[in-house]
Amino acid sequence: MTHDHEVVVVGAGFSGIGMAARLREMGIEDFVVLDRGNDLGGTWRDNSYPGCCCDVPSNLYSFSFALNPDWSRSFPSQGEIWDYMRDCVDRFGVGEHLRYDHAVDEARWDEASERWVVQAAGHDYRARVLIWATGPLSEPTVPEFPGLSGFRGKVFHSAHWEHGYDLKGKRVCVVGTGASAVQFVPQIAPEVEYLYLHQRTPPWIVPRRDRPVSGLRRALYRKVPALQRVSRLRIYAIFESLLGVFVGRGERRKAAVRKTALDHLAKQVPDEALRRVLTPDYEPGCKRMLLSDDYYPALMRPNVEVVDSPVASFTAHEVVGQDGIARPVDVVIMGTGFEAAEPPYAEHIVGREGVRLSELWKANGVEAYAGSTVAGFPNLFLMIGPNATLAHNSMIYMIESHINYIASALAFMAHPGVHTVEVRPSVQQRYNAWLQKRLEHSVWTEGGCGSWYLDHRGRNTTLWPDHTWKFRRLTRRFHPGEYTVRA
Ligand SMILES: Cc1cc2nc3c(=O)[nH]c(=O)nc-3n(C[C@H](O)[C@H](O)[C@H](O)COP(=O)(O)OP(=O)(O)OC[C@H]3O[C@@H](n4cnc5c(N)ncnc54)[C@H](O)[C@@H]3O)c2cc1C
Repeated sequence: MTHDHEVVVVGAGFSGIGMAARLREMGIEDFVVLDRGNDLGGTWRDNSYPGCCCDVPSNLYSFSFALNPDWSRSFPSQGEIWDYMRDCVDRFGVGEHLRYDHAVDEARWDEASERWVVQAAGHDYRARVLIWATGPLSEPTVPEFPGLSGFRGKVFHSAHWEHGYDLKGKRVCVVGTGASAVQFVPQIAPEVEYLYLHQRTPPWIVPRRDRPVSGLRRALYRKVPALQRVSRLRIYAIFESLLGVFVGRGERRKAAVRKTALDHLAKQVPDEALRRVLTPDYEPGCKRMLLSDDYYPALMRPNVEVVDSPVASFTAHEVVGQDGIARPVDVVIMGTGFEAAEPPYAEHIVGREGVRLSELWKANGVEAYAGSTVAGFPNLFLMIGPNATLAHNSMIYMIESHINYIASALAFMAHPGVHTVEVRPSVQQRYNAWLQKRLEHSVWTEGGCGSWYLDHRGRNTTLWPDHTWKFRRLTRRFHPGEYTVRA
């Protein structure tokens, strides 16, 4: 069946929902939001592992146009964020535009009709504008470990937590010590029989200091929303001041972060040998900085062992470390993160002259203009595309910047006679040359670690390397002069 729309949005996470709210505000009702899942929420639907929560304080991790005075804690849990997102869908009346169980197999530009043809769930959705909002961290990765397919126990990724599987009394192997593992290990450690935590590189961890939000404070936020706005601004400014840890010469900041993390480790882990194993040998910020108050204490439990050796392979009932030791386990939980630097979604998008985005990016490197538009792909807007993810502040801020940009583009495209817009290759090139120059001397490039920020060539294709307000300025308005406009 074929459906014609002005706009098709792919993805019903924060990006898709926020964009849908803006479309409605602009008076655009002829759109659908397609999602492969059976519910809205994106990241916060998929990652339901025990202890899943946000590393950005609640007051800032929300839309600026939909404050939530009712956060129960200073850092929001997965469940509370998911509820907030449902509330936004109701508040902005976008529910009827959402189409679940609609995995987009292919979106192809049809030159003759100047329409995108989006294939999903056996339907063809034709649209003048395609907004691709499938998220920077929505494709879990599992390394190809030799023997994994022959492992007889249970295996699952943290983004697909098996809630029906009882971990009580099980010998568990956790692979990885990234953001997710740091959150779920303390939750499962008390119930499992034994937990081997296979570590390739220890993360830098600073205190989280999560606390409940008092009823009085919530009532105040409800009565005087400006108070919550002041809190948002304060958190935003503190996070923004951390940019120097990652890019440029923030030597004092870097030293302060290092000291805070090392003091936290020293305070929580008295055992010198374990402390050595947990001390990173690269610059803070090179990998994602983490916040936790319960991770280190969990590692000191008698039933938890940090295996300071990456996983080498699996046998039917064992995990074998690169230390050569085979450890018998019942279940393997992959805390192995997501594919971000070479985004798998590019496989699905085919632009002018049949060029597949993945092929283009394979040949030229993953890049876009302002994290959103790509030469050769008319009327396509990526949300949180290349170099639009953050290491130092709230992603919602970046998402809102993209919403502004796309709304401004759509307003331009509403002019009579404007059919297509396509970013000029020279604009895209100049922008990416600037990005890569700025990234050259960042901690992500020179900090002495590998990370999911980098592609297989070692090029950072994920992070915005500057103040977020500069991204906001860049995306405030769509400039037709930067685009080839076909009338
Ligand atoms: C565990 C975890 C913790 C995080 N913590 C933080 C944090 O502390 N602070 C922060 O700022 N950010 C954090 N993030 C980043 C987070 O992803 C963003 O903040 C934000 O939720 C991204 O929203 P999104 O809508 O762009 O993408 P997503 O939430 O990933 O939504 C994308 C949607 O697209 C759908 N989709 C994907 N492919 C297809 C397809 N082919 N067809 C149809 N639908 C498709 C998916 O089903 C999904 O619903 C975290 C991410 C993860 C995974």
